[in-house]
Amino acid sequence: MALEDYKKKRDFTKTPEPSAEVPAERAKKKTGPFFFCVQKHLASHLHYDFRLEWKGVLLSWAVPKGPSLNPSDKRLAMHVEDHPIAYGTFEGVIPEGYGAGIVMLWDVGTWTPEADDVDAALKKGDLKFTLDGYKLKGSWVLVRTRGYGESSGRPGRSWLLIKHRDDWAGAVDITTFAPHSVKTPEADLADILAADNPEIWHSHAPAKGGDTGMMFRRIIEQALAIKEGNARPGEDARPRVGSKAPKQPKEPKTKSSATRKTTPTKARTPRKTAGAKPMKAAKRQ
Ligand code: MN
Repeated sequence: MALEDYKKKRDFTKTPEPSAEVPAERAKKKTGPFFFCVQKHLASHLHYDFRLEWKGVLLSWAVPKGPSLNPSDKRLAMHVEDHPIAYGTFEGVIPEGYGAGIVMLWDVGTWTPEADDVDAALKKGDLKFTLDGYKLKGSWVLVRTRGYGESSGRPGRSWLLIKHRDDWAGAVDITTFAPHSVKTPEADLADILAADNPEIWHSHAPAKGGDTGMMFRRIIEQALAIKEGNARPGEDARPRVGSKAPKQPKEPKTKSSATRKTTPTKARTPRKTAGAKPMKAAKRQ
């Protein structure tokens, strides 16, 4: 029941996202700690999906700017449809349809409610909790804003995600300080795309214009470069034209067939270390 919206928005023959199942034993779980995760999601807009396990599903908020460790930042968090528990470890490319884009598992861990009655706190629009993730820790609050939608009698979708002042608060910009996946070591959005099929994305990127479209194009270029075994576009290992490097003699053309056979072997070395292998291994998890 709680996952009807999740199901309605997706065609599971076309998306690699987990199906809508509620594990019975998790639905019964009444006491914390519960599962929580944050997924960095480059779709039509870049955002961070903040998810808290409750009654067998993941309550979900889309946070455009991502969480902040600074207690004076009030990060807008749009309440979205519940997601299945299995979504909490999902990472990959949604090729088309709702949410089309790249999903990266940015943080994962447990949450514990700070009040006894979670349902009452959710209804009231004031949920205090403690996080124990890799990146996010300590005390936080999700508070529903007064505004659009409230006058109609239904609670609005806008909430604010705010860090409480404690030892885990600070001025460091956590989304730029710790941008990578917690599932696939060192991976960013481009690496996840590279493990999928960046050639298709080159021709069928869903976001065309604006900042997100530009970010998509840049990430697709990065993904293609990673897949080809280059570090990043612009980092060309070959000497530039006109450089004084005493290499690249043009004369041994006749030996070229012999020399060329050794060249690809050299070129293959960075390909192995470029992240393609760990990505594939991670996909099977
Ligand atoms: Mn999302």
